Amino acid sequence: MQVSKSNKLANVCYDIRGPVLKHAKRLEEEGQRILKLNIGNPAPFGFEAPEEILQDVIRNLPTAQGYSDSKGLFSARKAVMQYCQQKQIEGVGIEDIYLGNGVSELIVMAMQALLNNGDEVLIPAPDYPLWTAAVALSGGKPVHYLCDEQAGWFPDIADMRAKITPNTKALVLINPNNPTGAVYSREVLQDIVELARQHKLVIFSDEIYDKILYDEAQHISTASLAPDVLCLTFNGLSKSYRVAGFRSGWVIISGPKHNAKSYIEGLDILANMRLCANVPSQHAIQTALGGYQSINDLVLPNGRLLEQRNRTWELLNDIPGVSCVKPMGALYAFPKIDPKVCPIHNDEKFVLDLLLSEKLLVVQGTAFNWPWPDHFRVVTLPRVDDLEQAIGRIGSFLKTYRQ
Ligand code: PLP
Repeated sequence: MQVSKSNKLANVCYDIRGPVLKHAKRLEEEGQRILKLNIGNPAPFGFEAPEEILQDVIRNLPTAQGYSDSKGLFSARKAVMQYCQQKQIEGVGIEDIYLGNGVSELIVMAMQALLNNGDEVLIPAPDYPLWTAAVALSGGKPVHYLCDEQAGWFPDIADMRAKITPNTKALVLINPNNPTGAVYSREVLQDIVELARQHKLVIFSDEIYDKILYDEAQHISTASLAPDVLCLTFNGLSKSYRVAGFRSGWVIISGPKHNAKSYIEGLDILANMRLCANVPSQHAIQTALGGYQSINDLVLPNGRLLEQRNRTWELLNDIPGVSCVKPMGALYAFPKIDPKVCPIHNDEKFVLDLLLSEKLLVVQGTAFNWPWPDHFRVVTLPRVDDLEQAIGRIGSFLKTYRQ
């Protein structure tokens, strides 16, 4: 007898770790070396966590044996509260902060607590696909609004507006953006907040890359522009503090909480059901937020992340038929392959063919809910030598590749 997955998963997909990865694992088992530009995990690329975070977790391990409060340790939430002041998010108290096993867990909880079957949520295309998956898992309908490559990948406000219906409950922003690297301006954020205000939508703002900013980019928290709109702001330690494996994140609720008592009750139920987030990792939060911000050394001139972003962007644009908007934040580039130069009908097949031929792993654009098969994502985490080798191989592969 076959055991089937539940109907709830019918429309749930998360292709960053999808079928092509299985092929890559098989090749590795056969002893091949694969250059992996597919996952935004800093540690394997030699980005180490600040030593004081590691020491703090080690020192606190003996006292971290029991469950914590289901929303999280007071000291960690207090540190997040202070962070809200830096980000100019008003009126946030200890009870408005929930810690989770990474932002991932909190995204799923936030959607499970909010959505009834058929409720719609506006999500960017391209997106970080967990958002779409979490909405679908919760019985909601993900509705994608386009981000405009010609406009530095900023959200197309007219498209967002056109897609609002009486069933729309919320909108999602990912800023700085994965996969495009866009960092939104105050004006665009104000326009989006205004839409949410007019249509009474909850705002979910994923700001996990808020400290990974290049050149003159400045990050503005959406919630700081929307004290009168219910906002959930997501952030964590995985990227800026390079401890993705610790699974440590938080969500902040701001705005008119008195109008969301029932929703907050729902969040509390779900937070209680999973008992609490991993306690040793909660200890890292206070030290991370209050300590030396070593991420700045990586993104300032001569910083490793900045140099790799620069080189990735230059090399991609040097490939005939490939163009790439300069990422202003985060850890990715999302180049376009000109369909006139190299038409691709199935971008998952393209990524698989690239893997088999060049031993190089990237992710197809459609895995980020981009509607056309003409983009792919690379991470900017490898060292410059590896990036040069990898992007060089993409260039030579594209010269002869035809689908
Ligand atoms: N949000 C975005 C935009 C991400 O890119 C990622 C991870 O890549 C996450 C959330 C998940 O983060 P966490 O490790 O905190 O679960």
